[in-house]
Amino acid sequence: MRSSHGQLLSCTLCPRQCGVNRLEGELGFCRAGAQAQLYRYAPHHGEEPPISGSKGSGTLFFSRCTLSCLYCQNHPWSQQGEGEHYDTERLAGVFRELAQAGCHNWNLVSPTPWLPQIAEALDQVRGEGINLPVVYNTSGYERCESLVAYESLVDVYLTDLRYASAASSEAGSRAADYVDRAREALALMLERLGPLQCDENGIAISGVVCRLLVLPGLAHEVIENLGWLADRVGVEVPVSVMAQYSPAFRAAEQQPWNRRVARDEYDQVCQAVESLGFDIGWIQDFEGDVDDDLVGHTMPQGGFSEP
Ligand code: SF4
Repeated sequence: MRSSHGQLLSCTLCPRQCGVNRLEGELGFCRAGAQAQLYRYAPHHGEEPPISGSKGSGTLFFSRCTLSCLYCQNHPWSQQGEGEHYDTERLAGVFRELAQAGCHNWNLVSPTPWLPQIAEALDQVRGEGINLPVVYNTSGYERCESLVAYESLVDVYLTDLRYASAASSEAGSRAADYVDRAREALALMLERLGPLQCDENGIAISGVVCRLLVLPGLAHEVIENLGWLADRVGVEVPVSVMAQYSPAFRAAEQQPWNRRVARDEYDQVCQAVESLGFDIGWIQDFEGDVDDDLVGHTMPQGGFSEP
């Protein structure tokens, strides 16, 4: 069994590389402690079709986050720390429960600060012969060294490319280096796992899906990222274009974050998907329903060519 202690003595799990000793109560940017913290877990039917399938994705919403998005709709647990503490045995029990519920996969939402604890719990469950594909559901703000260290855990990366400039990523998420880190991470994920592979029932079993959330006033950055994807990693990566932004949390106080995305902004992005030649993925209806409880993970409606 892995020991989580080494990584937590001087935490460098994410690009912030705080170097804090989480075992001694020191807190870094994300304020994650020594024991895993989970806000909720449940079968979830709101992801992309290969992730949710018919039985749902066994989704674990972890507390804390390595970003600090001013529009985060999950802020009670991502930034304000709601959630219960889980030791290894209790976290293993969650994985068992979701498998017993018939979920297609284990879907780890914002797992980065908790990778050592997750690895330990998954080792335990897999040692009992219980195994599902693991979906690593991330903002994209990842450190390549950590992705490599924990790559054996992961079957499917569901990763964002959210900004294309340091000014936007700093203003929106307090991460000026987001673009470089997220692009490096995505390139590595694709190198390791390749495009999305599904089983005979259309359920994802390995690979990468790139999510592009259109932010107000930043459609041009999504288009820039689509161009980067097409040039650098190829149009075979499935893209999931999302229109669901709404000005939650501190966004209501600041322009341009204090409004929803305009239809013409969204249309520009959809046209870019088509003109650049992406033909695998999903585009969310502009007026698509949004499950407010699970924002950030709502299924885009209306796929184009699904894998
Ligand atoms: S996971 Fe948290 S404590 Fe560790 S480096 Fe990242 S922000 Fe800092």
